Amino acid sequence: MTGRLIIASNRTAAPGEARAGGLAVALADALSERGGGVWFGWSGDIVEREPRGAHVFTEDGVEFALADLTQAEYDGYYLGYANRALWPVFHYRIDLAQFEEADFAAYEAVNRRFGRLLAQFTRPEDVVWIHDYHFLLLGQEMRASGWSGPIGFFLHIPFPAPEVFSSLPQHQRLARAMAAFDLLGFQTDRDTANFRRYLIDTHGGELLEDGRIAVFDRVLTAKTFSIGIDPDDFAALALGDEARAAAERVGGIIDNRALVLGVDRMDYSKGLPQRMEAFGRVLDDNPDLRGRSSFLQIAPPSREAVDAYQALRVELDRLTGRINADYADLDWVPIRYLARGYPRETLAGLYRLARVALVTPLHDGMNLVAKEFVAAQDPEDPGVLVLSEFAGAAEQMPTSLLVNPHDIASLAEAIHRALLMPLEERRERWQAMDASIRETTIAWWRRAFLEALDTTRPDA
Ligand code: ADP
Repeated sequence: MTGRLIIASNRTAAPGEARAGGLAVALADALSERGGGVWFGWSGDIVEREPRGAHVFTEDGVEFALADLTQAEYDGYYLGYANRALWPVFHYRIDLAQFEEADFAAYEAVNRRFGRLLAQFTRPEDVVWIHDYHFLLLGQEMRASGWSGPIGFFLHIPFPAPEVFSSLPQHQRLARAMAAFDLLGFQTDRDTANFRRYLIDTHGGELLEDGRIAVFDRVLTAKTFSIGIDPDDFAALALGDEARAAAERVGGIIDNRALVLGVDRMDYSKGLPQRMEAFGRVLDDNPDLRGRSSFLQIAPPSREAVDAYQALRVELDRLTGRINADYADLDWVPIRYLARGYPRETLAGLYRLARVALVTPLHDGMNLVAKEFVAAQDPEDPGVLVLSEFAGAAEQMPTSLLVNPHDIASLAEAIHRALLMPLEERRERWQAMDASIRETTIAWWRRAFLEALDTTRPDA
């Protein structure tokens, strides 16, 4: 008899929250497969007075427990430490990181308050699954509140090389806290290896024969669980009415020109300026391609309160303006850049229409967009994926056109090659990628993680 599942993630899929997207559905499925449980997270509300408890309600057998934040907590914990320190460092952008002691203090305080709160919802036989970089201290805080059962943690962003992680002034503190987890899941083997190497080299951790690591008087497991999507669901979406309508609208505008597509949150990790420069380079070097392909970049702004994001927006506006001014003609605009999000159905239609997808982050987690693009293709006439070697998905997709996104010339070369790739080669490459996304689906991911967690007993 397995215990209930207790999930903690910064945002939840509580009623009223957008549930579209694989992760929210996967975690909801995990809860319902267990016959219920608790899903804890931030309510999304900012309140004036120090909040004490959580808003609790039940839906479909799942108990949601949502806690508010004060403005100071939101600024310090969320915008500050999580998104101005941890996010850039974990994405190898130490240059953009801001290390404010007050932000860490807020991060610590929120993790403490939430850890205490969450411990109150547990029963002895439960298992706890904590998500992502907002909650690196949450396991330790739950232990301090008396929880001694299994705690799993999954990191949805990369874990950087040890010397990069060590640039965080609080890395020792974070590492000790992370050792309170029994199972730590990462998206790629590279992340898992980085984390292990950090514990072993920096903290004298010992790799045991069974693969676990002994460190800070605890024994923990660090393992790769490559997150995925539901390929059948996405393939079906790409054939639906809404997807077709979206493809028709764009198809009408690009007028049978080859569509080169990018779909990302607007984030400096995504390599958007490099991508635009590379497309500009393709036009510079290949006069015959001018007027024959169109680049559509969809990139809704995110975290606009963080300065680095505003600077990126300005840079993208400038680049698009320049390239379009250089090359646009009366009946053709080379780059269309839409700073807004679209429903999954629309994206599915655009993926299927695209001849080439550019998924070229400078450093990224798995990058599910790459998998969605593959799932949405017409098997008889698939498009080509140009994929950064620094995207998590690169480990699983060696038949994409792998590129170094910093190397504008070779990125331009890859786009050019993708645009001209013969059908047979496109099919062969796509078939291998399609097989790969069917191996580690989102359902596989959650089951594999929970199975591993169920067999992990806490070692004090
Ligand atoms: P990240 O988690 O860093 O944003 P991923 O590629 O792993 O990157 O996941 C992004 C998810 O968000 C995908 O499911 C994708 O469909 C969705 N998404 C990304 N960009 C957009 C957009 N412009 N509009 C709507 N959804 C988007």
